[in-house]
Amino acid sequence: MRGRPPGWQLCACVHARLPALLFLHLCLLLLSILLFLSFLPFFFPQLVNKLIPNRAWGWVATLLILLASAANLCAVNHVVQDGESLQSIADQHGVSASSIADLNRRELSGSSAVRPGMNLLIPATPPKKRESEAVYQRYDEFRTASTTSKGIPGRKTLSSTQGDAAKIPPIAAPAAPSEGETVVEAPRMKLSERPSDSDAKSEINVTSEGGIFNRRYRYLGRAKASIDAADVERGRWRIVVLHHSETQRGNARLFDHFHRRKRGMKNGLAYHFVIGNGTDSRDGEIEIGPRWREQKDGGHVRSRALNAVSIGICFVGDFNHSRPTKKQIAACIELVKYLRRRCDTRFRFALHREINPHPTDCPGKYFPGRLFHQMFD
Ligand SMILES: [Zn+2]
Repeated sequence: MRGRPPGWQLCACVHARLPALLFLHLCLLLLSILLFLSFLPFFFPQLVNKLIPNRAWGWVATLLILLASAANLCAVNHVVQDGESLQSIADQHGVSASSIADLNRRELSGSSAVRPGMNLLIPATPPKKRESEAVYQRYDEFRTASTTSKGIPGRKTLSSTQGDAAKIPPIAAPAAPSEGETVVEAPRMKLSERPSDSDAKSEINVTSEGGIFNRRYRYLGRAKASIDAADVERGRWRIVVLHHSETQRGNARLFDHFHRRKRGMKNGLAYHFVIGNGTDSRDGEIEIGPRWREQKDGGHVRSRALNAVSIGICFVGDFNHSRPTKKQIAACIELVKYLRRRCDTRFRFALHREINPHPTDCPGKYFPGRLFHQMFD
């Protein structure tokens, strides 16, 4: 703050949003007139006593709506910290740098340089699309293009992910099974093999923590705290490997049961993370497995060496027959980005089929591998 009179920020904020506020006021005024007119036919003395309380409540409600809307329209503040730039602040709040510059014209005096201690107004409504939304759009375009390019949706575009594999240098790794966990491909779980609830509760400590929206992470939510809480050894994780479950439905608990009981994996769920598709967990929900919490090797690739350095993320779904949902994709992008920050490593990124020493089609021919490579390579 630089000696501005109290209330200046609100004035600046209102000034910046004047057209929106005027529009809102006009709408509410119109609504009020309509309400008033609708009462006229009843404007007889014998009804006044009854109607006055009703009308009073109507006005109170209108006033509340007005106040709430005005508060919503007002910007939030951001005090500039050491090392922050206009762009980094914009990224933090999910808005564009130019919208912050517009709103703080006087404070910034036309330049884009910010100083520590500066108090900036941040627009409440992001004028720039958030990245995950932009990805939705790309995914939509991708789907449209691949649907129209051939009769079979996705085939042409997805086959190009095979080409992407060529860009990834092979990792020399013995194909030895990990901790007696011979092969962990997609679970291929039948519904008849699903555990009963009591069965699951007794042995499985997979917890679901996604789904809570916050300002920056739409899908990560409370999973962020669990990712942070794990005792991550810096530089240990070097690859993120994406899988599909090859089942129409499922969640971390079900796969954990399957891996323990049917595959005999003593550490349970072979993946570190599972992203739900709205069947047995919410669409886009990120579930964290015990191997992440305890920082154990994965069991998701057929190589002990690869399992020791790769984080396994499994999408619920069979992508030889369908595609991942938009929310799953957006959730995965958020997760990988956050893991890169958390582990302080620029992971390599791979689909299971691209690095597995044995042939596999995981995560399915309709998985948009190219999209992920574009994002993360
Ligand atoms: Zn796989």
